[in-house]
Amino acid sequence: MGEQIFENVRKLINDVCFRINIDEAWRLRLNECERELTVHFPVKMDDGRVKVFTGFRIVHNDTRGPGKGGIRYHPDVTLDEVRALAALMTLKTAVVNIPYGGAKGAVVCDPTTLSQNELERLTRRYTAEITILLGPKSDIPAPDIGTNPQIMAWIMDTYSMGKGYYVAAVTTGKPIEIGGTKGRFKATGRGCMISALLAAKHLGINPREATVAVQGFGNVGAATANLLAREGCRVIAISDIKGGVYNPKGLDLEGLLARTRETGSVIGFKDAETITNADLLGLQCDILVPAAIENQIVKANAGSVKAKLIIEGANAPTSPEADRILGDNGIFVVPDILANAGGVIISYLEWVQSLQSFFWDEAEVHNYLKKIMTNAFADVLGISQREKADMRTAAYMLALRRLAAAMAMRGIFP
Ligand code: NAD
Repeated sequence: MGEQIFENVRKLINDVCFRINIDEAWRLRLNECERELTVHFPVKMDDGRVKVFTGFRIVHNDTRGPGKGGIRYHPDVTLDEVRALAALMTLKTAVVNIPYGGAKGAVVCDPTTLSQNELERLTRRYTAEITILLGPKSDIPAPDIGTNPQIMAWIMDTYSMGKGYYVAAVTTGKPIEIGGTKGRFKATGRGCMISALLAAKHLGINPREATVAVQGFGNVGAATANLLAREGCRVIAISDIKGGVYNPKGLDLEGLLARTRETGSVIGFKDAETITNADLLGLQCDILVPAAIENQIVKANAGSVKAKLIIEGANAPTSPEADRILGDNGIFVVPDILANAGGVIISYLEWVQSLQSFFWDEAEVHNYLKKIMTNAFADVLGISQREKADMRTAAYMLALRRLAAAMAMRGIFP
């Protein structure tokens, strides 16, 4: 699957570069990742045995600023998937115009089967292995699937131990106690909520009458559902890896969070009907938020999507064939590189605060996020209307023009 996702991202980069006449040199450059590191490293497990894990860290492009992107802990993650996700980060930071490049990392592991001690030893060893790439001026990790603020704290601590002094700005998504920013935990969900409201306004959908279905109830899905509910939307369906729950009158989100904390899943929640992930994606609703993992809306099920608006909380949840079907059916898609950029925007604000050791209050962080998301949405919508392109193509046009201009300015030496 990872190979396919990387090919999809490359194909879209190539197609859009041809469409808007981007110089061949920059197109070819964006087809490859600048730096790719694969590491195999030992970790002592709690029972005394040693296991060897595989990890990756990739910087796709750093023309506009240091590498920036999450670290994923997942049993099925591959090198090509990390390449694709790193390339999406390059495009995302360019769309929202923050001074970063794109990067991504991963460890092939199932964090749910590891104890806290094993997770800490794995994280610290992985950090030591990829430390030649990391640094506040070169490559700055953040959380992604399977990682969290605690893991960012261990990465920051291990890196700082190597340097001999405190280096807060080497990661973002850190706990507040060690230089994290207010507002980071729900940042990606907040960005999805802002995108959803902007798109709903454009389409003439009243949020107070809108129904919402969310696939994925982790960091992104739970925050998006919660923040859209606060805006008056009715969240009628939620799912996680084990399946979903549905109540047309609206779900009790606090209750669902408590159930997920207790049992690890939303399944079996009272006052709701059990559904599958496939059912959720085909539900009658106004706003559908895929916020789980790649390739969920594909050729086989795209025709059954009934939502008017899709907010891509996850990276690459829609395949290119599915994208065409959704477009033909008049469904408005806010693409991943715009919709879920709230995380990296607030990561940028955290990095700035960590570098300056000067911290902002939550309202300042939220205002800044809203301003950047609103400007980026307007830029992409404007291109989409002027150049008769769907929102994904328009977002790629904006990003690729910025990247090409930056590469041209820096030039190629010798
Ligand atoms: P998470 O690990 O916190 O949550 C993932 C959720 O998806 C969980 O509820 C899990 O049960 C569910 N899930 C996993 N596989 C599934 C499957 N096959 N079918 C249905 N549900 C499944 O991860 P997250 O940080 O919320 O990330 C979710 C998505 O958002 C990913 O694509 C990630 O790359 C993207 N993203 C995350 C951030 C961030 O700040 N965390 C930022 C931008 C984009």
